[in-house]
Amino acid sequence: MHSLPLSPASARRLPPRSVAVVLGTRPELVKVAELVRLLGPAARLVHTGQHYDEQLSGRFLAELGLPEPELLTGVGGRPRAEQIAAALSGLDALFAAGRPLAVVVQGDTNAALSGALAANARGIPLVHVEAGLRSHDRAMPEEHNRVLIDRLADVLCAATLDNRANLLAEGVPGARVAVTGNTVVEAVRRALPPAGERLELLDRHGLAADGYVLATVHRPENTDEPEALAAILTELSALSADLPVVLPLHPRTRARIEAAGLAGLLAGLTVLEPVGYGEFLALARHAALLVSDSGGVQEETTVLGRPLLVVRRSTERPEAMGDFAELVRPGPGLGAAARRRLAEGPEGLRRLAALPSPFGDGRASARIAELIARSVPPHALAA
Ligand code: UDP
Repeated sequence: MHSLPLSPASARRLPPRSVAVVLGTRPELVKVAELVRLLGPAARLVHTGQHYDEQLSGRFLAELGLPEPELLTGVGGRPRAEQIAAALSGLDALFAAGRPLAVVVQGDTNAALSGALAANARGIPLVHVEAGLRSHDRAMPEEHNRVLIDRLADVLCAATLDNRANLLAEGVPGARVAVTGNTVVEAVRRALPPAGERLELLDRHGLAADGYVLATVHRPENTDEPEALAAILTELSALSADLPVVLPLHPRTRARIEAAGLAGLLAGLTVLEPVGYGEFLALARHAALLVSDSGGVQEETTVLGRPLLVVRRSTERPEAMGDFAELVRPGPGLGAAARRRLAEGPEGLRRLAALPSPFGDGRASARIAELIARSVPPHALAA
């Protein structure tokens, strides 16, 4: 981990609203929450509207204690190029009217790429949180977003040594890269409800600790191909004969299931609306197994010490693979891997709970706040 002296106090010397944090989706809100708290009045939250609705953003702002963002209009629900273009011109207008001292983007979304391009266009220092992830899968738009953002960034906050090595291998100068850890570690620690509340929540859903599977599916490779979607739901449905399978259903997945006429496969599952972050973590903390195609969930399960099947072709988070997680394809292999992991029982869960997360020590946000303060000219800081 990077050995920066931790003095979030210097972040407090940044002028009010001088650090624009640009984001557009649920996982970005989760992962910048602690950083925004540390930046205090210096933070200026800008939401591109990529996924702006109550379920995927509004409630997360409130739950994570984030300030009301400036919200761009006309971005969400459009094709990728139009989203990026619309967000870029909206951000450029905002930055022209009030120039930030630094722009921060997190991860690999279209919103993050738009933020990076907008900072670059106006010569504003760009900080990339979660730099250096690579799936080497050119079919994923996120992979292109990551590579492009990392080329543009002035300060690259790599979560792990492997992420740093990816950047150096691409010729990014080492002086631009700091290994900070991943902010998800502190996000999980802060948002996980206490044990008593978690057990009450399980009770409300009629679930027993360590006695159910928690699943999420939303990536285009699984939702846009009806065969893949049907194969995943068929395996989850078969598992639900043995133990409850809880599926908080992403709106895009629900729409695809309905369009493909697959709603019948949901019959045996405990289908929920997308849940808030604390509730999701509580469900994940006590699941005997998770099945997901999410990026963030690959990290969160290592903090919670639970096993995960990643239903994807590739991953940009190899650190989670092995003890905690494994890649599976839609189809019978998913069901077989699930039964094998479930057969490890309480012993397997105890083993994982004792392992440290490869994603950091819970102080990534403090390191990043310090890096941001150092990226602005010293005369811009209050005495
Ligand atoms: N999540 C949540 N409620 C849900 C499903 C997921 O709060 O019903 C959280 C999850 O814990 C993770 C984030 O949403 O932090 C993941 O979002 P998503 O899967 O949309 O994006 P990805 O991580 O794949 O970029």
